[in-house]
Amino acid sequence: MAEFDLVVLGGGSGGYACALRSAQLGLSVVLIETDKLGGTCLHRGCIPTKALLHAGEIADNSRDAGRYGVNAQFLSMDMPAVNAYKDGVVSRLHKGLQGLVKSRNITYVQGYGRLVSPNTVEVNGEKYTGKNIVLATGSYARTLPGLDIDGKRIITSDHALTLDYVPKSVIVLGGGVIGCEFASVWKSFGADVTIVEALPHLVALEDESSSKHLERAFRKRGINFELGTRFQAALVTDESVKVTLENGKEFVADLLLVAVGRGPVSANLGYEEQGITMDRGYIIVDNKCRTNVPGIWAVGDLIPTLQLAHVGFGEGILVAEEIAGLNPRPINYDGVPRVTYSDPEVASVGLTTVQAKERGYDVVELNYDLAGNGKAQILGTSGSIKLVAQKNGPILGIHMVGARVGELLAEAQLIFNWEASAADVAPFIHAHPTLSEAMGEAHMALAGKPLHAHG
Ligand SMILES: Cc1cc2nc3c(=O)[nH]c(=O)nc-3n(C[C@H](O)[C@H](O)[C@H](O)COP(=O)(O)OP(=O)(O)OC[C@H]3O[C@@H](n4cnc5c(N)ncnc54)[C@H](O)[C@@H]3O)c2cc1C
Repeated sequence: MAEFDLVVLGGGSGGYACALRSAQLGLSVVLIETDKLGGTCLHRGCIPTKALLHAGEIADNSRDAGRYGVNAQFLSMDMPAVNAYKDGVVSRLHKGLQGLVKSRNITYVQGYGRLVSPNTVEVNGEKYTGKNIVLATGSYARTLPGLDIDGKRIITSDHALTLDYVPKSVIVLGGGVIGCEFASVWKSFGADVTIVEALPHLVALEDESSSKHLERAFRKRGINFELGTRFQAALVTDESVKVTLENGKEFVADLLLVAVGRGPVSANLGYEEQGITMDRGYIIVDNKCRTNVPGIWAVGDLIPTLQLAHVGFGEGILVAEEIAGLNPRPINYDGVPRVTYSDPEVASVGLTTVQAKERGYDVVELNYDLAGNGKAQILGTSGSIKLVAQKNGPILGIHMVGARVGELLAEAQLIFNWEASAADVAPFIHAHPTLSEAMGEAHMALAGKPLHAHG
């Protein structure tokens, strides 16, 4: 039996970040992974989807080239070549990560682990004991009752990432982040796309203004959507899939992508048997990611916090530092940046207007239209930056829509997390012409000294 300071079960964003930081702090670590180091994010999530979105952007640029005086023509997508590019990106990052884990002297075990006592994980008949156990087994793509994923006509994001053809038409069930990103990719690749969303808006967790901007932009791109209506049934035939909604409408397409959320991977892993408190499969933790069982911690998509890779990184680091006795500050989840990488992008940090009001703030808002920004005009993008602030107080939320606005989150998250007010930010000179100028202009306008803005 091998003994360690930490046994980490699951080598995705949460697990490997915890292992890397623990090793850096001088702790002995074993990292157990049944599939590939890097987990969902690297192999089936963040990285491959963003590669597809980039290929889509190039396709759209070639279609629009004439607008910029460039003679080019969009002919077609070569999906095997797109996949080779995407897989190349993933495989370079995978190699780099494997090298990193090795270089930190982390013991890496390939195999399927189960928690067999409060301090032991068993893999391939071997027992690994730790002063601490970190559970990081991640999440899987959910489906709905009556919807059988066959991997051909009815697929999840896992299948969508390996398609070697562009479907003529797709129905996307779920208008959240993953659904909107795939809708954007397939539209760019040339498919007819219809999104079905039960809630009244696309990306419904975002500020309503961002959802409305995205809906307008998607409509302009010819992406169809049905909002506020539920899925009823799907019928698969040899050539197509027919989807019926509760409002009686029917849609027929080559493919149905089910993007209705992700559930925790926690069944049959010994978690309940060891007395860990769980809720609908999620492991319940305190603000330092401790479970109710002393010495057992949980991070990433397995716990009911935002399902984002950088949240997993943050939680993994938090646990490593807590175990090492550094007493780190708990994570403020409001301050986590969020991006939907569709065209246009949707990016935010902090509270929506509704949330800010619910928490009792006296709220002021400012909308800065990207039409007034030179770089946005050059790029041919539209959108806005919306500030939510406490009256005469700090910025409470920043909500953006437009090309490349995800990159503006670096500044937005500093503003939010440092509790800056509009008057604090207004004097900072932003480089001209950049999209980041719009961030400066929005704060200048809210501070009562608009430059390139009305009012
Ligand atoms: C299509 C898609 C796009 C996404 N895009 C983004 C994005 O752009 N940005 C972003 O921040 N997030 C994105 N995400 C979310 C992100 O991928 C997850 O939040 C992140 O991967 C969670 O990390 P994790 O470590 O909790 O879990 P995972 O990454 O799921 O890792 C868990 C690991 O545990 C392993 N495991 C499970 N059970 C066992 C066992 N019994 N024994 C050993 N190993 C086991 C699994 O094989 C897996 O490798 C996306 C997700 C998807 C599906």
